[in-house]
Amino acid sequence: MSEQPHLPLVSPGRVDAQTPWEQAVARTRRRSPSTFEQWFSGVQFESLEADVLSLTARDEFVRDWVQRHFIPDLLESLQPATGIDRIRVEWSLARELTRPVAEPTPEPSRVRNSEPPSARQTVRPPPPSRPSVMPRIERVPAVLALLNPKYTFDNFVMGPSNELAYAAARASAGGGGPRYNPLFIAGGTGLGKTHLMHAIAHRVLEERPNSRVMYVSAERFTIDFIEALQHKAMDEFRNRYRTGCDVLLVDDIQFLAGREQTQEEFFHTFNVLHDSDRQIVVTADKYPHQLQRMPERLVSRFASGLVADVQAPQLETRVAIVRKKAEIEGILLPDSVAVLLAQCVQSNVRELEGTLIRLAAKSSLTGRAIDDEFAQSELLVVGSRRPELTSVEDIQQAVCGHFRLSNTDLLSKDRHKSVAFARQVAMYLCRQRLKCSFPELGRAFDRDHSTVISAVRRVEAALKSSDHQVAAHLEAIEKRLASSND
Ligand code: ADP
Ligand code: MG
Repeated sequence: MSEQPHLPLVSPGRVDAQTPWEQAVARTRRRSPSTFEQWFSGVQFESLEADVLSLTARDEFVRDWVQRHFIPDLLESLQPATGIDRIRVEWSLARELTRPVAEPTPEPSRVRNSEPPSARQTVRPPPPSRPSVMPRIERVPAVLALLNPKYTFDNFVMGPSNELAYAAARASAGGGGPRYNPLFIAGGTGLGKTHLMHAIAHRVLEERPNSRVMYVSAERFTIDFIEALQHKAMDEFRNRYRTGCDVLLVDDIQFLAGREQTQEEFFHTFNVLHDSDRQIVVTADKYPHQLQRMPERLVSRFASGLVADVQAPQLETRVAIVRKKAEIEGILLPDSVAVLLAQCVQSNVRELEGTLIRLAAKSSLTGRAIDDEFAQSELLVVGSRRPELTSVEDIQQAVCGHFRLSNTDLLSKDRHKSVAFARQVAMYLCRQRLKCSFPELGRAFDRDHSTVISAVRRVEAALKSSDHQVAAHLEAIEKRLASSND
């Protein structure tokens, strides 16, 4: 444990005895010092008053992780110390924290001691010259920024349609049972492949925080590779994907179809990792031998470990999934509606989840409770949608119609807020509904692919933080699309 230069734990101004919060933090910190510091350098303690613990997080990501992984333990320590049975946690967000619970760890040369710091050591405020944005957070594995905190094994509902993939994914994270290398997860869209990949990454990082986990889409791998070639940075690229990687998770490998140079590079990456027994997990929308324009040597390597598929879930599993999602999102959902949704939306879980989220958004916007009648009327709208008939142009047109813009505005370089927002929404919808690749979208919107990536991420983040306004815009545009397809 490191001697901290000007540490943590404090409500400002206290010098002597530890408060219940300080004690609880010290205990949690002792249990997992390194992960504690990684995460709590992004968290600030505000107050503990009556039964409300107020904390501020640097961003949603830190908030969700700390909430999931640390808060239960902290509350367990706080309860006996405060005598309060149920303490509620209230979070706020602030990009810059002035008093983070943990400061960045000192350089390795500093003396280390195994004791938790005393309260006296902890009260010094950070020196004013120190930037209040915490450089420490950079030491959080970069991969975490790419992972959905909700895509964990706990949140994955297992059923006959996915049990092999689920068990194999757990084993590949080192959770016991035979480990297959590579693990190839095959299955149609929206059936949980990406969820399982993120779950593997979360599990590995929880159990072995120092593991170097890489999660990339095959598209990202391709873009990285091309950029490395362009910038003559192949050594760095190879360091990242070969030497610097203990677990490689590559999503949607079908994207490599026909990209011979990237396939060649991936083949060598694969071999290096596999030869040193580092775990590789790959997903695709097809079985290995069905992959088109993929060289035989790659196909045979994909098939050389375990190929596990995810199929469309049966009714019981779908009902369980809807219930689980409602629980995670805090949506009050009568059982009859869960069954109704599961009966009506059969093909894919993403669609099922989307319907639930839309229902909840609409219910909170209109103040109507989610009951059978309401659900049924919404399902009629879903039923009338025919996404397969939609094109990029249809989406652009619907977005322009909704925001009252011309197509020229939408594709112009106008950076005015409202135009930029409409453009982001259009890109997001194309990505969601048409599964366009980022470079494809870049061409369709006359933008760089990185602009498209950040536009899509921005809308995703807004939706994730339950931004009702964004959800309502999306819903209105979806309605337009549905009616234009009729
Ligand atoms: P894929 O990568 O196969 O296209 P995703 O992993 O993105 O699909 O899944 C789509 C959505 O459905 C995600 O939100 C995911 O959490 C959810 N999902 C899929 N299968 C399950 C499951 N068995 N349990 C819980 N959620 C699931
Ligand atoms: Mg996926």
